Amino acid sequence: MRKNVNVIGAGVSGLTTALELQNDRFQVTVIADRFPGDLSIDYCSPNAGAQWRGDGRYAPGSLDAKIHGYTFKKLYNLAETVPASSVTCMNLEEYVDDTEASSHKDPWFKDLVPNVIPQAQLPAGAKSGISYTTVAIDVPKYLKWLLQQFIAAGGKTQRCHLAHVKGAFGENVDVVVNCTGIRARTLGGIEDQTVYPTRGQTILVWAPHVKSMKTLTNAIPFGYSRLCGISYIDEDVVKTDMRPLRQAMMLVEIYLLYRRNDFLTPNVRMASSGNVILGGTMDDNRFDLFPDKEIAEGIIRRCTALYPALTAGKELEIISHNVGLRPSRVKGLRLETEIAKNAAGKEIIICHNYGHHSYGYQASWGASNEALQLIKKALSSQGKDVESKL
Ligand SMILES: Cc1cc2nc3c(=O)[nH]c(=O)nc-3n(C[C@H](O)[C@H](O)[C@H](O)COP(=O)(O)OP(=O)(O)OC[C@H]3O[C@@H](n4cnc5c(N)ncnc54)[C@H](O)[C@@H]3O)c2cc1C
Repeated sequence: MRKNVNVIGAGVSGLTTALELQNDRFQVTVIADRFPGDLSIDYCSPNAGAQWRGDGRYAPGSLDAKIHGYTFKKLYNLAETVPASSVTCMNLEEYVDDTEASSHKDPWFKDLVPNVIPQAQLPAGAKSGISYTTVAIDVPKYLKWLLQQFIAAGGKTQRCHLAHVKGAFGENVDVVVNCTGIRARTLGGIEDQTVYPTRGQTILVWAPHVKSMKTLTNAIPFGYSRLCGISYIDEDVVKTDMRPLRQAMMLVEIYLLYRRNDFLTPNVRMASSGNVILGGTMDDNRFDLFPDKEIAEGIIRRCTALYPALTAGKELEIISHNVGLRPSRVKGLRLETEIAKNAAGKEIIICHNYGHHSYGYQASWGASNEALQLIKKALSSQGKDVESKL
């Protein structure tokens, strides 16, 4: 008999988990108070860039590398075969404001992503960095597409706010998956106080001439990746602009993320047109919801320095200023199961899949597949003595 699963959350984590479970013949309902098309500060997914960017900190063979690798393959395949998904292949030039380039010399993902241009072959002027073909995701369209796939395959949705996780323990429910993002902090029965926001401010501009992505990350305060330095950005920009932010313990990312506007275009690799995201900040434990003018000015200044062709000699056409709260967690992603009981005393498996920080998209399919494996394992050992924390 098919098992019934309630997935709490309709962000990228909830929707990909719902699809992975559905694909394995589970009967799935997604319960959430925000769905694709909604905009809210406590709903992170629509506020992302988003791209897949190899994280040089992961050891080859680690769970993180496995999750991110699995997701890359899935997203790359979507980009090549399903244009309606709004996932696009795109080149990314990536630099880190650090003199150590060790992780870029031999990245764990070098055999995964096509067309890795190693440090030694970067264009003249670049001290170090890496360039490779990856994927960019037009997130509002992608989220709607994920939801459509789920509903088309027989998935059900329920829009409601849950005060307590037990609100998802229906009579016939066997499994509940917790994909509540930042609100795992407040959801009754979970109340994970190690979850905190990492605020990100970005600007959406109209720049159809931009056809690739560039990233410069300030690595120092958090030992973020300790990857590389960059010399073709004006040294003065680095000195005058990034150092004070560093002192403020704020990780600053400069990136240009391409958003494909026209998903009907057949050439997914070099698709033209579009909206471009200029980023951005990573600011831990900052909750303010409104875009900060000074930060916005800094983003424009740094992005035009990194990517002079951005303005094409004209004024930037700004579409919107955006703020999102990344769902961070002290110990990182929570991917585990526990057993609880519903009102009738029936055992319910709870699987947690939250705390994705800045990697919700690029970890999504891999983490969802891990969640599926954990659920199957828990179902197969059901009836045996397992301690309930709820
Ligand atoms: C500026 C910015 C740029 C980013 N760029 C990237 C990128 O390039 N690549 C990348 O991989 N990631 C990126 N991220 C991170 C990514 O967006 C997040 O990690 C991801 O969106 C988290 O998704 P989620 O599904 O876990 O949470 P959310 O999207 O926040 O979804 C939570 C869901 O749970 C529901 N929910 C919660 N509590 C309740 C409740 N009590 N009752 C009912 N429903 C509830 C909500 O309604 C919602 O549907 C970026 C984030 C930001 C802000």
